[in-house]
Amino acid sequence: MSETVFILSGSNMGDRERNLALALEKMQLIEGLEIVATSAIYVSEAQDMVGENPSFMNQVIMADYRYSANELLNGLELIEKKLGRTGKGEKLPRSMDLDILLFGQQIIETQRLSVPHRELLNRPFAMTPMLQIDPKVIHPVTKRPVADFLSDDDRSKVMLYKDHVARQP
Ligand code: AMP
Repeated sequence: MSETVFILSGSNMGDRERNLALALEKMQLIEGLEIVATSAIYVSEAQDMVGENPSFMNQVIMADYRYSANELLNGLELIEKKLGRTGKGEKLPRSMDLDILLFGQQIIETQRLSVPHRELLNRPFAMTPMLQIDPKVIHPVTKRPVADFLSDDDRSKVMLYKDHVARQP
């Protein structure tokens, strides 16, 4: 049994576009992960961060995954490290941040993981690319469409950078 997962990739340090491309390339090598679709790249001002922070580039990846959310996070954290990410949980510029937004309709609350991602519905930069791939996706806790939580004002905060939605055949 596999789950459909949504992963948010973000970078606001160094060559942000290249960092996103490298993260995607490395995700293709995670065992048990089959990428189904990737969103366009969006740019937005840093939110929930400390001090001066360059704007973020974000992309959402939809995939089928065969193992547990914990195992997926292990794989994603390795990629963050390989792409030069230092420090966790710090609200400082980062070359690469990978978050699990949804893991099927599972609700997971452990010391290490909150899925759906706790901030998903407060973050237009996560909802916008996710909805580009799946406009009808349901939030498992509220049981409502994620789209209900994205206001027009929120939409205006997230700029399309490269419009390219890729779906695997
Ligand atoms: P960050 O600084 O945004 O990379 O936060 C990473 C921390 O958030 C790690 O210690 C993770 O264990 C934790 N975390 C909790 N829920 C999630 C999630 N859904 N996806 C990724 N990291 C998560």
